[in-house]
Amino acid sequence: MSDTLQGALSQLKMAARHTEVPEEVLEALNFPKEVLTARISVRMDNGKRRSFEAWRCRYDDTRGPTKGGIRFHPEANLEEVVTLAFWMTFKCAVVNLPYGGGKGAIRVDPRDLSRRELERLSRAYVHAFSSMIGPDRDIPAPDVYTNARIMGWMADEYSSLVGYPCPAVITGKPIPLGGSLGRDDATAKGGFYVLKNLLSEIGLENCEKRAIVQGFGNAGATIASLLHQDGWKVIAVSDTGGCVYDKTGLDLQKLANIKKERGSVTDYAKQISGSDIKTLTQDEMFALECDLLVPAALEDQITRDNAGSIKASVIMELANGPVTAEADSVLEKNGVTVIPDILANAGGVTVSYFEWVQNRQGFYWTEDEVQQKLRPIMERGSSAVWSLAQKKDISLRTAAYVLGLERIADAIKAHGTQDYFCP
Ligand code: NAD
Repeated sequence: MSDTLQGALSQLKMAARHTEVPEEVLEALNFPKEVLTARISVRMDNGKRRSFEAWRCRYDDTRGPTKGGIRFHPEANLEEVVTLAFWMTFKCAVVNLPYGGGKGAIRVDPRDLSRRELERLSRAYVHAFSSMIGPDRDIPAPDVYTNARIMGWMADEYSSLVGYPCPAVITGKPIPLGGSLGRDDATAKGGFYVLKNLLSEIGLENCEKRAIVQGFGNAGATIASLLHQDGWKVIAVSDTGGCVYDKTGLDLQKLANIKKERGSVTDYAKQISGSDIKTLTQDEMFALECDLLVPAALEDQITRDNAGSIKASVIMELANGPVTAEADSVLEKNGVTVIPDILANAGGVTVSYFEWVQNRQGFYWTEDEVQQKLRPIMERGSSAVWSLAQKKDISLRTAAYVLGLERIADAIKAHGTQDYFCP
């Protein structure tokens, strides 16, 4: 078993120590309900056929159809998919969405494919997993290196297979194909609402407002811009090309333009003159003095090797699983507050849920209506996690798992457990 999956399951065990749930509930949540591996073969532009490994996991569907993204990544693997589906199960429960957790992936570097090859691959994924997905069964969405266009192709392919338009099978679609307003920036907005709601509780109300963001994609670039608009100084950001740092605060508009034109944030240091602008390694970036660190790239970025050097007061996990279980203990010992992924990045799945609801009712909301519905969900979730953490004297991560576990356990118990059948 991978360290990441083991770490996720250890979080479940840790949460179970702080609440009363029947043994059979924990046993059920120890492994996924359904996993499918497929070989996807696609005709490439040069006429050759190429095969790709692909997966879909439905971890638990007691609270509703499973929900979770599809990742295209050269290092994707089954255990990662299962771990991500496990996290989705708890995330949906923490913000009380009527969903279970799922996830999918193809092991591919989409940058190696032409647009036509990418379309064929995306459609082939739906063919391979058509028995598993469905608007009442398992509803995919975008994740790392997948986007609205890919979701549009996938929804179209599924609709062709069933013979009628079925937009509710997938979320994160382009707006003209049934996407929801507000989905693009929902993950970052959700995190931002959580941060604002807990600002004084986590001691950031009167801080210097210096933030660092790892990853400058959908989630990372948007949270950087929201923080900037709220008066924060974003002093460092990174992407796969490296990290750029300016202690006086980066110009995010220029940074976004440079990333778009040149492909990496590090070109900012070459393009913008200023004696304070530097490029740094990832570990140097993590060790910078700051108030808030937002990992928004991939899992397993803050490990036992670099956790000790982190000087941020608060880490808000917009990525899934960026802090390993071992790093978590180091951070807790050092007094760093971690706002866990299953709360902090739940805005994405929440607006995905809104998209599914709008598709099913055939009546669409304005951007304002979406924000008016998202904000209270994130505030309720974060307040509930904070109160539980205070009441039980546990970390926010453990409290989020306790809250999720209690909600999933309530659903499992509603079918009857040993206490009911053999009192
Ligand atoms: P994305 O593909 O848009 O962006 C990922 C960014 O991370 C890119 O800028 C990439 O260059 C950077 N990156 C990758 N590896 C890196 C590394 N080792 N160091 C620094 N930067 C690195 O993806 P996204 O949609 O923004 O997702 C980012 C994270 O947020 C993922 O963990 C994803 O699962 C999670 N997440 C995303 C959403 C969503 O709605 N987009 C929802 C919930 C969780």
